[in-house]
Amino acid sequence: MSAPQPAREDLLRRLAAAPALDLLVIGGGATGLGVALDAAARGLAVALVEREDFAKGTSSRATKLVHGGVRYLAQGNVHLVREALRERARLLANAPHLAQPLPFVLPLYGARGRWLEKWFYGSGLLAYDLLAGRAGLGHTAFLGRAEALEAAAGVRGAGLAGAVRYWDAQFDDARLAVALARSAIARGALVVNHCAAVGLLHDDGRVAGAVAEDRASGAQYALRARCVVNATGVWVDEIRRMDRDPGRELVAPSQGVHLVVGREFLPGGHALLVPRTRDGRVLFAVPWLGATILGTTDTPRHDLAAEPEPFAEEVEFILREAAGILERAPTRADVRSAWVGLRPLVRPPDARPGDTKTLSREHLVLAERSGLVTVTGGKWTTYRAMAEDVLAACMARGLLPERPAGATVALALAGAPASAQQPLSAAPGLHLYGTEAALVASLPGAQRELAPGLTEAMVRFAARYEYARTVEDVLARRSRLLFLDARLAGSLAARVAAILDEELGRAFNATESERSFVELAARYARLPQ
Ligand SMILES: Cc1cc2nc3c(=O)[nH]c(=O)nc-3n(C[C@H](O)[C@H](O)[C@H](O)COP(=O)(O)OP(=O)(O)OC[C@H]3O[C@@H](n4cnc5c(N)ncnc54)[C@H](O)[C@@H]3O)c2cc1C
Repeated sequence: MSAPQPAREDLLRRLAAAPALDLLVIGGGATGLGVALDAAARGLAVALVEREDFAKGTSSRATKLVHGGVRYLAQGNVHLVREALRERARLLANAPHLAQPLPFVLPLYGARGRWLEKWFYGSGLLAYDLLAGRAGLGHTAFLGRAEALEAAAGVRGAGLAGAVRYWDAQFDDARLAVALARSAIARGALVVNHCAAVGLLHDDGRVAGAVAEDRASGAQYALRARCVVNATGVWVDEIRRMDRDPGRELVAPSQGVHLVVGREFLPGGHALLVPRTRDGRVLFAVPWLGATILGTTDTPRHDLAAEPEPFAEEVEFILREAAGILERAPTRADVRSAWVGLRPLVRPPDARPGDTKTLSREHLVLAERSGLVTVTGGKWTTYRAMAEDVLAACMARGLLPERPAGATVALALAGAPASAQQPLSAAPGLHLYGTEAALVASLPGAQRELAPGLTEAMVRFAARYEYARTVEDVLARRSRLLFLDARLAGSLAARVAAILDEELGRAFNATESERSFVELAARYARLPQ
C-alpha cells in the first residue's frame, strides 16, 4: 500500500481550524486508539491527542499475548474468556502481520502431584478449546516426556514428567497501536501524537472539549467536542482532576516487569507457561522477534512514573522462576533489556447521583455528571470490544449520535496482508510491514542495515508514514530494538538521529533526541542491585 496519508503538520492545521468534533479522545494507547478508530469507522468526527507517542504508556509494555485468559477460566469467568477468545480471532484476522497464533507448553514436573496437575490443567485447557469453538487455533494435547522435550526445545529436562500443549496468540503491541492510529487517520480522524491535553473546557459546568498543546511548538488548540473520552490508562485521575468536582481517585498502579534474554534460551517456536509461581502468579517465557521475553510481576507502586524501573526483588524472582523451567538458567548478565509496565488497579468509584458506571470484565467505563467519560483497565486483547462499550456508554448518555456497533469487527488494519508471511517469534524484518513491505523497500537506504532487521529505509518510513518524531519513537516503538537489546539500541542513537534530521528538518532537535534516548537505553540495560 502507498495510500497518501496526511502529515502530522496537516493534522495539526486541521485541529487549529477548530473543527466541529463529535468526539475528542485523550490518550493514544490501545484503549483510546480503539475508541477513535471505532468512532471514525462509524462516520463520526473524531480527534485524539496523545501526550507522548502512541503506546508510550502501558500499551508498548505488555507480555505480547493475545489471549483468552486461562486464569479467568480457573475463576469460573466463562463469559470473559469466551469474549476474549472471540476478540483474539478477530485481531488475528484483521492484522495477521502483527498478531499470530502461538503454541504454549505447560511443563509438568515430578512424579507426585503429576497426575493431579495434569488432570487439573489439562481439563481446564480442554475447556478453553471448547469455549473457543470455531475461534480455536489448535487442539490442547497431553505430551509425554519425550514429546515434551521435542516440542519445547529449551525446557528443563530434569524431573520433567510430561506437558500440556495448548494454543493462544502473540502480537507486536506498539506496532499494532501505530496501525490503529493510521487506520483511524485513514477514516478521517485527527490523531496526533506528542500533543497533550492540558485542560478541560466547560460550558455551564458540562465538559465541552479540551485544550491541547503541541509539545514541539508549544502551540495550543481549543478543541470543542460533544463528547470527551478520557483514555489515559493509569493517568486517568490527572484528567479527572481537570474537571469540576472530580470525585475520589479511581486508580492504584501496580507494575509488571519483563526481562529479555537471547533466543537460545527458548530456541523452539513455542512459549512456556508456569501456571503457579511460588507467589501464586502466572509466569511466561515467550519467543518474540528473535528474543525471549520472561515475565511478569505485579508489585504495587505509589507513583505514576513515565519510565518506572524494576525492583531488585522482581528481577531475582523472574530469573529464579525461569530457572525452574529452562534447561539453561538465565543470569543477570544474560539480560539484554528490562522494561516495566503500569497496570491500573481500579478502585470501585463512589456512587454519586448522575454518574453511570459499568465495571464489566476487567475495565471500568465511568460517565460522570459533568459529561466526562473515563475508561481504564482491561487488556490489549479486548481493546476492540472495550471501544464498543465506551461508545455505547456515550450514546446511552446522549453525548454521541446513535450509530450501530460492529464497524470494526472485520476492519483490516493498516498494512494487513491476507495472511502472515513469517512467525512473530522470528527476528524482525520487512514481514512486519505486511502489504507495505514493498514501499519500505523502495525508500533510500533499503540495503543499509543499522542492526539485524532494521534498515535506514525503515527509519525513513517511520518518519514519513508512521508519525515518528524522535529517536525513541523509532527505536522503542516502530522498531522494538530498545525492548530487545537496549545496549545495541543505544549505540544506534546518533545514526537514527542523523536520518531523522534529514527527514524532519527543523521540526527535529537531533542533539536532544539523541541524548535523551542514550540515557533511556542505559536505564533499560541496567538492572537494580
Ligand atoms: C505488565 C503488563 C503486561 C500486560 N500484558 C498483556 C498481554 O500480554 N496481553 C493483553 O491483552 N494485555 C496485557 N496487558 C494489559 C494491556 O497492556 C493494557 O490493558 C493496555 O495497554 C492499556 O492501554 P491504555 O490505552 O488504557 O493505557 P496506556 O497504554 O497507558 O495509554 C494511556 C496513554 O495516555 C497518554 N496520556 C496521559 N496523559 C495524557 C494527557 N494529559 N494528554 C494526552 N495523552 C495523555 C499516555 O501517554 C499514554 O500513552 C498488560 C499490562 C501490563 C501492565
